Amino acid sequence: MGEQNKGQEPVPAEQIRFGEPRRYLVNIDSISTSQLFADCVIVGAGIAGLRAALEAADRRNVVLVCKAGLEDSNTWKAQGGIASVLREDDTFESHVADTLRTGGGIADPAVVEQVVRQGPELVRQLQDWGAGFDRVNGRIDTTLEGGHSHARIIHGHGDETGRAIAEALIAKVRSTSNIRIIEHFFTIDLLTDNGNRCIGIVGQSKEHGLQIVWAANTILATGGGGQLYRETTNPPVATTDGLAMAYRAGAVLRDLEFVQFHPTTLYVAGASRALITETLRGEGAYLLDTKGRRFMKEYDERGELAPRDVVSRAILAQMRKTDATHVYLDVRHLDKEYFAKRFPLISDLCESFDIDVSHDLIPVRPSAHYMVGGVKTDALARTSIENLYACGEVASTGLHGANRLGSNSLLEGLVYGKLAGQGVGASEEADATSLQHPAIKYHVPHSDRSQLDTADVRNSLRSLMWRNVGITRKAQPLAEAQEIIRFWHRYVMDKVFDTPEGWECQNLLTTALLLAHCAELRKESRGVHYRMDHTQTDDNRFRKHTEIVRAG
Ligand SMILES: Cc1cc2nc3c(=O)[nH]c(=O)nc-3n(C[C@H](O)[C@H](O)[C@H](O)COP(=O)(O)OP(=O)(O)OC[C@H]3O[C@@H](n4cnc5c(N)ncnc54)[C@H](O)[C@@H]3O)c2cc1C
Repeated sequence: MGEQNKGQEPVPAEQIRFGEPRRYLVNIDSISTSQLFADCVIVGAGIAGLRAALEAADRRNVVLVCKAGLEDSNTWKAQGGIASVLREDDTFESHVADTLRTGGGIADPAVVEQVVRQGPELVRQLQDWGAGFDRVNGRIDTTLEGGHSHARIIHGHGDETGRAIAEALIAKVRSTSNIRIIEHFFTIDLLTDNGNRCIGIVGQSKEHGLQIVWAANTILATGGGGQLYRETTNPPVATTDGLAMAYRAGAVLRDLEFVQFHPTTLYVAGASRALITETLRGEGAYLLDTKGRRFMKEYDERGELAPRDVVSRAILAQMRKTDATHVYLDVRHLDKEYFAKRFPLISDLCESFDIDVSHDLIPVRPSAHYMVGGVKTDALARTSIENLYACGEVASTGLHGANRLGSNSLLEGLVYGKLAGQGVGASEEADATSLQHPAIKYHVPHSDRSQLDTADVRNSLRSLMWRNVGITRKAQPLAEAQEIIRFWHRYVMDKVFDTPEGWECQNLLTTALLLAHCAELRKESRGVHYRMDHTQTDDNRFRKHTEIVRAG
């Protein structure tokens, strides 16, 4: 067990009840709506949803839905790698200790232990299923990354690890007969009965319009929510839908205030914020300010290899000090050929902006990257709602605590995807024929308010979140953010939309409000949550989880 949690009491939780009038976002009349039946419905086709599907399909028939194509996920975008103990000179104890240390005193040691120990077998299984992990001398190559005390990051196609994993999982899922994949199915809400049991989902399918999937078990694997912020590494699908729908259904959400910002994303005005993996810093890249000075050691003795939150705040501080919009990554001293081979994605990206990495500096700045908190689960991926599991980035399993160690999220998705699928397989009421579902009729009161430009609301929200609920936080801007979001929330939640853009806007507003509220309540700095007005960690008052649940 790591230093951080050794001998400490279990972490308590403070639960907040928060008002939300709407149970569902759309009008539902289950009798006249198109319907499907499944033993298990899985929402999301990233590493967590795909892995869960393969496990559940051993014993159940599975419907797997995702709101865009199978390749539209954070998983597909993952670059650096997946952390796992494969080398003889590495140990489970070391990986556990690194994870707990990064978790800021509120990670769950039993969960960390479980994830770390299950890692190697599941990574090897991925390899057997065709994941193209990079090799050196016939063995899987491992590399070092900030926060890890051993070289344990496994990578594929150089810096396209996510694609390497996703392609293998998708191929396996496609060849599994009792998994039905439905792409372009936007899940709007989780359906629950009067006994707080999840009985399936309602969504919009490209072919059938509004559709209900009744299921004995539901697995939520909808990923993260970088789209809450103006600057993000996340693809457009990451709009916090899973968090918002779980909240409306009455699930307990946990530790939403912890949002990880990635220190180095390419900063070229007008281009999307492509991530520049930190493995690059692991392999010797420096950070320079716009005056050409190396500055990381002034902030942390670990320099460029300090954890992400430390590097992000240092970059932000140095940008303020030098009155600049960015800093630079310097890779000019690295071997050009090796760089192009090891980091083909970044090489191509830089080239597309006329940046010759052997001569030019790469302009970078931090961006929102990873939702550390999420839907609270137990050690077996079960949420507070019966028959509803959560896994991957949408879940708060206890692995990350207040901060995520790099490359641990793919690992978590893999392990918890498997656990969720296993849970469904073992569940007593697991097949569609045993399902008793009530007719559901839900009507949203008519609103006379005028048409809304949801794109404008979204852009304003993302800027507000970046300014007021970003890398560094303070009481006044947090309170102001909530007041503004509440105002937008009131009139946007009044409406019934019939397109994903509208539902995403509603989900983003809901999650933003909850997140800002949790950030205001945590009057200390811990992990990725940094309060400029409370810069110290306060174990006496705040060594606890923040839980939030819909009132009434
Ligand atoms: C650029 C980038 C680089 C990263 N690099 C690494 C790395 O090197 N190592 C690492 O460990 N982690 C990395 N991460 C984080 C990691 O990729 C994610 O945390 C992880 O892939 C999440 O997997 P997931 O299965 O939970 O969700 P995702 O992979 O995001 O999948 C979510 C799925 O849910 C679906 N979905 C969402 N909402 C709905 C809805 N309403 N209806 C239907 N479907 C829906 C989406 O369509 C998608 O299929 C990176 C992330 C990014 C963005």
